[in-house]
Amino acid sequence: MLGLMQKEPLLISSLIKYAALYHGDTEIVTRTIEGPIHRYTYRDLHARSKRLANALTRLGVGQGDRIGTLAWNTYRHMELYYGVSGMGAVLHTINPRLFPEQIEYIANHAEDQFIFVDLTFVPLLEALADKLTTVKGYVVMTDREHMPADSKLPNLHCYEDLLAAESDDFDWPEFDENTASSLCYTSGTTGNPKGVLYSHRSTVLHSFAVCMKDCLGLSSYDNALIIVPLFHANAWGIPYAAAMCGAKLVFPGAKLDGASVHDLLKTEQCNFSLGVPTVWLMFFQHLDANPDIDLKADIKLERVVIGGSAAPRAMIERFWNQLGAYVVHAWGMTEMSPLGTTGTLLPKHAKLSDKERFDVQSKQGRVVYGVETKIIDDDGNELPRDGVAFGNLMVKGPWITAGYFKGDGGEILDGDGFFNTGDVATLDPDGYMQITDRAKDVIKSGGEWISSIDLENAAVGHPAVQEAAVIGVYHAKWQERPLLICVKKEGQEVDREQMLAFLEDKVAKWWLPDDVVFVDQLPHTATGKLLKTKLRQDFAEHKLPTADAAE
Ligand code: ADP
Repeated sequence: MLGLMQKEPLLISSLIKYAALYHGDTEIVTRTIEGPIHRYTYRDLHARSKRLANALTRLGVGQGDRIGTLAWNTYRHMELYYGVSGMGAVLHTINPRLFPEQIEYIANHAEDQFIFVDLTFVPLLEALADKLTTVKGYVVMTDREHMPADSKLPNLHCYEDLLAAESDDFDWPEFDENTASSLCYTSGTTGNPKGVLYSHRSTVLHSFAVCMKDCLGLSSYDNALIIVPLFHANAWGIPYAAAMCGAKLVFPGAKLDGASVHDLLKTEQCNFSLGVPTVWLMFFQHLDANPDIDLKADIKLERVVIGGSAAPRAMIERFWNQLGAYVVHAWGMTEMSPLGTTGTLLPKHAKLSDKERFDVQSKQGRVVYGVETKIIDDDGNELPRDGVAFGNLMVKGPWITAGYFKGDGGEILDGDGFFNTGDVATLDPDGYMQITDRAKDVIKSGGEWISSIDLENAAVGHPAVQEAAVIGVYHAKWQERPLLICVKKEGQEVDREQMLAFLEDKVAKWWLPDDVVFVDQLPHTATGKLLKTKLRQDFAEHKLPTADAAE
């Protein structure tokens, strides 16, 4: 027997309609690419998204057409989130930090019809435009006054001119909630990037989760600085969830340096923010370099979501001890919209000491309702949820991809419909998950696994260490042994022996790195993760001091 409830489709346009109606005065603040701070409201965002939908229609864009963006976090990019998807076209956010050849590949693979571009990235597109075979035109996201003179981009439009020519009158169409809404490519550190195609339904369901107290608890009380880029996994779903609950949004534009982040946190008095560990490293460097900053007056942060790569424990501690901000450690993937686990606490944790609570927070968080999770060994056997056994992390749920765009990568789900995340993790009985490694980064020493992430976290706990990476390098006896590669903090000193001594009581003895080297900087991917493939190439010939002894 079927239920008798209304079959209202879950559409992205319903989010912005709601925000405009019931949080119409709530602000969206942007540090613009042109410079000044821009402020408007959800009501304005809704009106301009409708203008944009009219402009797209006039340009000949129809349902299902892909519209590319190469843009920072701004209100105009947000208008594309609603205008493009709301009218039934597909928003394709391109990560401008990818190599130009990857951007070319992605735009062609997606068959983008138009690309909307911030001033910053116009030169990048000019160099590629000849090779973008499906693009009919480009829209620079600025006003007439700032339009680049003599741009070589063909069929060039000015964003504000397009909008000015249209009316606010647009009826968001109704269609099947399974219609594609947006497209993000994984960064493809090996092989070509692959497209993850979200639907209206998956996006709205994910937004409900983001607003759950046991997930990120986003609400109308939040005043959120969105540092995670709109081009990285939908900015972790915040642009949609914020409209669902009416959170105030603050967009940093192109300026993600410590001073600019501090400035926005201070002037807007944000209580909530999200970003990958590297941006927070820059923020703390700025605080270190300016000890007279009045932290109490400037920073009102209550919750900071850190994900994308492991939040170092030292960072979690510092946010709490220095700023009184609770770090919500989160894990997810582009393939998962992206949220899978978030570091909220349970009632039983109320009495924990700070130190004990940091242990819980250092894990990647608890499984969110909507994401089914299990860990399996290499033969497919399910492993216990005891917080000790670790295995391949598998996920299933309504906002997790069923396959890549255009069938790339073939069948990606197992017989039970689970997606292999490529992460190796433990799960405990309360649902807390801890990543021990990427399957391809795990160090296999004499048949046992060593977690590169645990070692890195321990190493960055050293006060002189800015950033650390651990990779496996060849060893005659053990096949692979860990090599620790560190970047020192400016003006700080530490040597190999001191580093090893520091780690001695923090990791199992047989996990201790066989060597430590210091470099000026570490390579990162376009989404701020350590680029271990490059490190493995760079240190392929590195001879461990222990290697001879073993031969
Ligand atoms: P990319 O496009 O760089 O692959 P994703 O954000 O989709 O971007 O990457 C997902 C991967 O990032 C995860 O599978 C995991 O390996 C890593 N990751 C994300 N969050 C965390 C975290 N909190 N701790 C450790 N690793 C993480």
